[in-house]
Amino acid sequence: MKEHIYLDYAATTPVDNDVIAAALPYYNKIFYNPSSTHALGQQAATAVEVAREKCAKAINANSDEIYFTSGGTEAINWAMSTVRGGQKKHVVVSAIEHDAVLACAQSLENVGYIVDYAKSDRFGLITPNALEKVISNDTALVCVMTVNNIVGSIQPVSELVEIAHKHGALFFTDAVQAVNSVELDVKNSGVDMLAVSGHKFYAHKGVGFLYVKRGALLSPLILGGAQERGKRGGTVDVPSVVGLGVAIEKATRNRSRFSKHVKQVVDEFVTRIKYGYIVKCDNKTDDIVTLIVPKINGGRIAVALSCAGVCCSVGSACSAGSATPPKTLVEMGEEYADCAVRFSFGRDLTIDRVVRAADIVNDVISRFKAD
Ligand code: PLP
Repeated sequence: MKEHIYLDYAATTPVDNDVIAAALPYYNKIFYNPSSTHALGQQAATAVEVAREKCAKAINANSDEIYFTSGGTEAINWAMSTVRGGQKKHVVVSAIEHDAVLACAQSLENVGYIVDYAKSDRFGLITPNALEKVISNDTALVCVMTVNNIVGSIQPVSELVEIAHKHGALFFTDAVQAVNSVELDVKNSGVDMLAVSGHKFYAHKGVGFLYVKRGALLSPLILGGAQERGKRGGTVDVPSVVGLGVAIEKATRNRSRFSKHVKQVVDEFVTRIKYGYIVKCDNKTDDIVTLIVPKINGGRIAVALSCAGVCCSVGSACSAGSATPPKTLVEMGEEYADCAVRFSFGRDLTIDRVVRAADIVNDVISRFKAD
């Protein structure tokens, strides 16, 4: 079987060996229910609380502000549901959010909320000015992601939070793509809620958390037992949560090493690409690179690349298969938004592999051009 080069780390990452080792005993040795009050159950409960502390420390929060979820999508749904039933009926969402945020915004609209979209500039940035244009004192919630999943643009979160708070609105940030590259400090940025997903930083799929600032009102999204301090019913997935704690601790500790390595491999890849152009952002993470090859459909390039041995994507994995170009690129005013392929890079990639990948990309695109 052909060996593929995986350049789709923004879709998901492999589970780190330390994460597997930490999680392993909780599958069959300390497999107990953390809600059980007996001594064995409490061993599992202690492991969950240790993981909660690790997650809190990684974003400079308190442990009682961390609620474990089934991943980013649930955390987003939960955060955005907090406005329901409140007095204010206006919500601001950035125009370049992940589908999970956009779908929640749509569902708020369906029940009578007014949603306004803060526009992106040409470089994938939601500027303070763009937010000022749509926010008002009737705004209940502002949602702007920390790092965009298509182009990697880093948003000026602290400045945007200040504007939201000036208008009495809560601020929620989807930080799902941020953990590997960007320092997250909720006390410093002042965000009220923040969503994280484990499988983007070498933890398991199906686990993540929502940070909610102390004092902010949080109603349960999932009703049931008294887990997560009565806010989320359902038995906690102990092995995944234990792994999440180890993964976020490791990602935080190794962030600058990760960023340096990724920059090296990405620079090597990008300088070798002979065709098209890379989407530019003023301030971005290095691990996401979007290539545009005018007049050649991105979906067709991605399929041809997969056949030739390079796995990348057209947009987010969640909207794969959709015929529409990535919304982020459309919102950025990119003329050839439908001619984009996204390459994303991880810490186990070597220069050799990305050089081979760049050669394959050049080869595949040259064949399209010859047709
Ligand atoms: N938000 C962003 C920016 C993402 O990139 C993703 C996943 O691709 C999600 C949310 C959804 O996270 P999850 O897959 O954990 O539900």
